[in-house]
Amino acid sequence: MIVMKFGGTSVGSGERLSHVAALVAAQPGPVAVVVSAMGGATDGLLAMGRRAEGGDLDGAWAELDALRERHRAACPSPEVFSLLEPMFEDLSDLLHGVSLLREQTPRSRALLASFGERLCAPMAAGWLRLRGCRAAAVDARELVVTDAQHEAATVDMAASRQRARERLLPLLQDGVVPVITGFVGADPRGVTTLLGRGGSDYSGALFGAFLDADAIWIWTDVDGILSADPRVVRDARTLAAVSYREAAEMSYFGAKVVHPKTMLPAREQGIPIVIRSTFEPERAGTRIAEGTVATPFGVKTVTAMRRQALVTVEGPGLAGIPGVARRIFASSEASGANVVMISQASSEQTVSMVVAAADTEALVGALDRELALERAAGLISAVAVLPDVAVVSVIGAGMAGRPGTSARLFDALGRTGVNVLAIAQGASELSISVAVGDREADRAVRAVHAAFGLRRTLDVVMIGAGRVGASFAAMVASTRDELARTRSLSLRLLGVVTRSGAVLDPGGIEPSALRARLATEAVALDDAALLDAIDRARSADVVLVDLTAAETAPLHLAALERGFHVVTANKKPLAGPFGVWRKLLDAVRRTGATYGYETTFGAGLPVLHTLQEMVHTGDALMSVSGCFSGTLGFLCTRLQDGAGLAEAVQEAAELGYTEPDPRDDLSGLDVGRKALIVARAMGIILEPADLVLEPFVPDLEGGLEAALALHGPAMSERIRAAAEQGRVLRYVAEITPERVEVGLREVSATSPIGSLRGPDNILVFRTARYRDYPLVIRGPGAGAEVTAAGVLGDVLRVAAGG
Ligand code: ADP
Ligand code: ASP
Ligand code: MG
Repeated sequence: MIVMKFGGTSVGSGERLSHVAALVAAQPGPVAVVVSAMGGATDGLLAMGRRAEGGDLDGAWAELDALRERHRAACPSPEVFSLLEPMFEDLSDLLHGVSLLREQTPRSRALLASFGERLCAPMAAGWLRLRGCRAAAVDARELVVTDAQHEAATVDMAASRQRARERLLPLLQDGVVPVITGFVGADPRGVTTLLGRGGSDYSGALFGAFLDADAIWIWTDVDGILSADPRVVRDARTLAAVSYREAAEMSYFGAKVVHPKTMLPAREQGIPIVIRSTFEPERAGTRIAEGTVATPFGVKTVTAMRRQALVTVEGPGLAGIPGVARRIFASSEASGANVVMISQASSEQTVSMVVAAADTEALVGALDRELALERAAGLISAVAVLPDVAVVSVIGAGMAGRPGTSARLFDALGRTGVNVLAIAQGASELSISVAVGDREADRAVRAVHAAFGLRRTLDVVMIGAGRVGASFAAMVASTRDELARTRSLSLRLLGVVTRSGAVLDPGGIEPSALRARLATEAVALDDAALLDAIDRARSADVVLVDLTAAETAPLHLAALERGFHVVTANKKPLAGPFGVWRKLLDAVRRTGATYGYETTFGAGLPVLHTLQEMVHTGDALMSVSGCFSGTLGFLCTRLQDGAGLAEAVQEAAELGYTEPDPRDDLSGLDVGRKALIVARAMGIILEPADLVLEPFVPDLEGGLEAALALHGPAMSERIRAAAEQGRVLRYVAEITPERVEVGLREVSATSPIGSLRGPDNILVFRTARYRDYPLVIRGPGAGAEVTAAGVLGDVLRVAAGG
């Protein structure tokens, strides 16, 4: 026997109800159905009550009319609607009563809200009968016995179980599908009560327990519990399995997909709960039982509770007040405020509580009364309220005993510029919660979600499809399976953009089909239109991968401003005026997007991250020197070996070592740009004009060939002469906190720089820490393959939250 609960979105129209009936009818064994109100109906009813209470009866009635029409349209036949008519009469009277009294009580509100479910059950039963099922609407007020807390009642389990079995088992034995109202019950005197907002899930679990069901299926509009609210994080992943305790913790902290109480009766009897989507019934959804799945860092879900406030009691004498914690909690209890989170400084100088914003006034009033004497005596200075707070939590059983979880959490929040107001960790190590500003909640959830490796997909848009582009696309194709297996991450090539136009495909572009599709489908778009189109096509976080050598700073900026991530192998945007560089990094800070530019320096060499790590850990830079150009390194070696300059340049271009325009290399500009990027990564503010740059080949303005012909012989001669002294020519950059110098130098052939061969780069760092023995990084700093690999590395860093 299975109990199926259908939520508001699943019963929101005649079409949806018909679909529900099909899902129930398709189940071979016996089924009991529990329904919510049509989506929005409960909120609508409560709004009508407020109108009537305020004296606007006509307004309330107008809304009631609309609700009636919505139900009429959703009924399978006029006969079924005639069953609802008397309830609409009652509702109309009830609203009239409220408007006369100009007062609502918990009792009248409970009665009013109960109509949502009570109207829905007969409709759902009607749709089932249309499918040939025998079905009977059942009013749960006859079965669920509760106490008299009318809006959030507690259930008498024994009495309810008995009534439910007496009434429902005979129906089930007869092959009838009972369609029971969720959310509602009645106190021992028969007065209508509610199980709390969102309580139909709990009703489903209660009936599952009462009927000793094999499983409780909760049908909703998402295919399970996801790693974050899909409205906030587009590429949240579905969790295949979570434990009862995890699910309870998740829903308590704001994963509203299932009501926190739902797990109680199910766990008690070991009945699995399955959350499934009526929109995608073929998916397995999430199974809530004893077992759980593993995730990269033990965290399974990131949640946010919005509309909270932080109430702080502080004062120099707080520590000395006897029983102060108890009294503070007693006040919160007396005021009925639901305290979500408490944190107390160890000196007891402050106690902070997060409560629902709506409860703040009551709580502050209660605290003021309770602590009036201490305030008068100056032991307590203030009860302060910080409004507009949200609680962001990471939840998962795998965090217990795993060091580094909080560090990862705070690092992610810090990097996206979110300020933490208070912290609490559940004793069970199932959750860690932080209070943050409400406006920052979405950003915080996204950053934390990424940092714990919970992303499902990244939508990659390539800008440029040259040599590096081809390598990159091939690498994406070849690593895809491995990434899916080891990181549950899938990279989808959403689009590719070249000078001739863009191709975007929400279904993903097969990397091998890139060229063909560009040739036939490319459409020209300007930056703004391109970003709009990407926004429409995407279904996950977007990372723009710039593999051009164009002036793309405006595109980077616009993309980052939208919260798209950018990974660039293109140096130009980062090596322009300092003001532009700062704008780009400001956008990163504001939006929390990741800007990956590791490959702007030395292709795949691990330079910039290494450097930033040194700076972050408090090292101070003295100088960086080295050969930053694989191309010029290659030319130097070829000249040394006796090749002519023009010939060597030709070879370098053929090997893919040069920039698209080799003059960018030969002028030294490319090395200058790299030097600026390195300097800026170390916090040295330099403008392009501060570069002292001696070109590798001068006079390039007059044309490449002429310059090569003009200077080639002299260079060959210079190299030959140097060789006689045991020296070689190298194009060297020197960066100090004061200046950047780039030019041709003669160095000893046996020195680290002199012994470089081919396209190898070398960097020699001298820092406070590496003073006597400098840190040296050496390796091939050019080439499509190594660059593409470095770019892919940056993309994976995006997936991991930067
Ligand atoms: P129903 O009407 O079926 O009871 P609800 O609106 O109460 O549905 O709950 C489903 C909604 O919960 C989803 O549409 C989703 O936006 C939201 N939600 C919030 N957090 C999560 C999460 N972690 N996983 C899944 N859904 C979530
Ligand atoms: N209809 C009720 C509500 O909106 C109960 C539920 O949907 O679970 O709160
Ligand atoms: Mg719900």
